Amino acid sequence: MWVGYWIISLCLILSSIAVLPILPVFGEEKIYDVVVVGAGISGLSAADALTQMGYDVVVLEAKDRIGGRMWTDNSTGMPLDRGASWIHGIKYNPIFVLTEKYHIRTEPTVSDAHQKSHVYYDSNGNRMDDAQRKVIDGRFADFQKYLDKSAYYPEHPIKEQLFDQIFLYSRDSEKSIQNILDNYAREKGLSDKDKAEFEHVANYHFVNTWAADISEISARHYGMGIEYGGEEKVLPGGYVQIIDKISSELDIRLSHPVNKIDYSSNPISVYVEGMPEQPFKAEYVLVTLPLGVLKDSVSGKPSLLDSTKGIVNFTPPLPQNKVDSINKLGMGVMNKAYLIFNDISFLEKDADYQFISIMNKEKGAWSFFLNLNKSLGKPVLLAFNSGDYGKKLEQLDFKRSSSGNAGNLANHSYAEPLKELVGPVEQDEYERAVVNLAMENLRRTYKDVPEPKEALVTRWASDPYSRGSYSYPAVGSTPKDYENVAEHVMDKFFSARLFFAGEATEPNNWGTVHGGYLSGIRSANDIDFWYRWNHGYERWAYVFVAVTLGVGVSWGIAAWQRYETNLAMTLLGRSQEVPLYMTVLISFTVVFAMVMYYWLEFVVGIFPDFFDFFTQSDDECYTISRLIDAIPYMNLSPQEEATFYQQYQRCIDT
Ligand SMILES: Cc1cc2nc3c(=O)[nH]c(=O)nc-3n(C[C@H](O)[C@H](O)[C@H](O)COP(=O)(O)OP(=O)(O)OC[C@H]3O[C@@H](n4cnc5c(N)ncnc54)[C@H](O)[C@@H]3O)c2cc1C
Repeated sequence: MWVGYWIISLCLILSSIAVLPILPVFGEEKIYDVVVVGAGISGLSAADALTQMGYDVVVLEAKDRIGGRMWTDNSTGMPLDRGASWIHGIKYNPIFVLTEKYHIRTEPTVSDAHQKSHVYYDSNGNRMDDAQRKVIDGRFADFQKYLDKSAYYPEHPIKEQLFDQIFLYSRDSEKSIQNILDNYAREKGLSDKDKAEFEHVANYHFVNTWAADISEISARHYGMGIEYGGEEKVLPGGYVQIIDKISSELDIRLSHPVNKIDYSSNPISVYVEGMPEQPFKAEYVLVTLPLGVLKDSVSGKPSLLDSTKGIVNFTPPLPQNKVDSINKLGMGVMNKAYLIFNDISFLEKDADYQFISIMNKEKGAWSFFLNLNKSLGKPVLLAFNSGDYGKKLEQLDFKRSSSGNAGNLANHSYAEPLKELVGPVEQDEYERAVVNLAMENLRRTYKDVPEPKEALVTRWASDPYSRGSYSYPAVGSTPKDYENVAEHVMDKFFSARLFFAGEATEPNNWGTVHGGYLSGIRSANDIDFWYRWNHGYERWAYVFVAVTLGVGVSWGIAAWQRYETNLAMTLLGRSQEVPLYMTVLISFTVVFAMVMYYWLEFVVGIFPDFFDFFTQSDDECYTISRLIDAIPYMNLSPQEEATFYQQYQRCIDT
């Protein structure tokens, strides 16, 4: 019997250690339940969900507006999105669910008759006919098959291939898409000219979506993630409509740039620039800084911008595996130029097309124009630049202001207008020069294109509170890196208090608005779990189960010792009393197994990974399971909710 008492004492000691982190914090200052850093879609969705759960939440935002990389600019009298424009696939997309709920108008940009909405020009400005398109599309489809095959099954022996399949999620690739394309061209015997032409096509496809050059994107993981089915849609009234709806009830402090988070004690102190004496205090902090800001925060030196604005000092420093993953993932650059005309009749027979693609000799430079006349009913073309070109374009005026020369791009023929600039460049001047570059590509294709009467140009890499447009799987990174960025940080009492959300914390939805939204909901649920764990019955339920099991097992063993049973004989292979050391060993094993389970599940988080590996194989059910997490905070009607739950049930049943 004494073994039972001994185990009860052990459990009591363990449980008293467990309650240490929830000892009350005395003091007069205001202590929030949660401080959220950043008022983008991830911060706002988390704050909204937490507020609905009854938590006292404050959101600190560096800028004088909310929305982050969702920014609808009305300065031209039209709602033009400087950041995100599209809802990428509407099937089970939570953002689309919100537009339906709030009756926000959406318009498709890619219909099933996709081919009819897209016109292509080659790099010499010649319109491609259907036959040419077929050849190029066919070659690209062939390349994609080759890319997937060579990325997953490199020239390894069968054992390695098997290993690759099982551990794909956390195996990196030193190969870029460019490396695979080089192999492809060699194997297919493409001439230099054909290869160059095909490179334009491949770059066009990748750089405009991944916001990075193909030499920087991981060949193995470029396609990771879930594709939501259905149409791609834009919001003619602007993405801000979603932001406004989910933020209306929240306590948001604008122009509050956070520069230090001290999580060495409870409560955590969050310092705002210019207010060093009055940190915001909270039991839990959710960080939703964009990956670009995190990168410069952990490296301590700004990469592109010569400014420490927005950079956050974490005390103590973040764990090394998180820092490594932040460094490994890529932060792409993709910028927009809205060209507003009096009319777009210069497009002539192309005026009915929604997408105009003009392959440019320069990678990432103005190869893609969206005709907004189709969705907005206004004579506006939206031009894009991305990847290395986009980065250089943004850096240009920094180089000029410091060294007086115009940087690499100025040597390029398309950059001719920039050469006229001297000295530090004003925003207006910069915009004019960038618009000229976009117009050059348009004028190579269409005659008599007038000057736009107005324009808007974005510079996301130069924005100190973004430091880039969105994340991408860079060469050498894996989906596991996205999870490491998402991982909460434990304090010294093994309780999670510092949490991370944002598009770059979502291995299956990175780089998107829905990814940001879902990451916020995920973090709100995590914080709620840890709050209840630290304050409520769950920790006690765990202790109760541990004590009951410990006592039960030891009593069972004690009884077993006394009354020699057939089972004991069978198990031990002999008929004698179970020795004391065996009793102690088994009891210890049970308690140890429970502590390990707690550690692996809640601290290391290994079980969710393990199950994800299986569940993610079914994209649609995975998508629905994420949506189901968000449903309770979307305030849908009971019928709408029921439909999604039925769908979810079907997934579980199958
Ligand atoms: C040009 C462009 C086009 C895009 N197109 C699409 C698209 O069509 N469809 C799509 O789904 N996605 C698109 N995206 C991506 C999408 O916009 C983002 O994935 C999403 O908005 C990210 O939300 P977030 O909350 O993670 O980050 P953010 O929106 O960046 O929010 C982070 C917030 O933190 C704030 N902040 C930063 N530093 C500090 C600090 N030190 N203190 C306090 N606050 C700070 C920022 O100001 C910001 O408000 C696009 C992005 C860009 C830039």
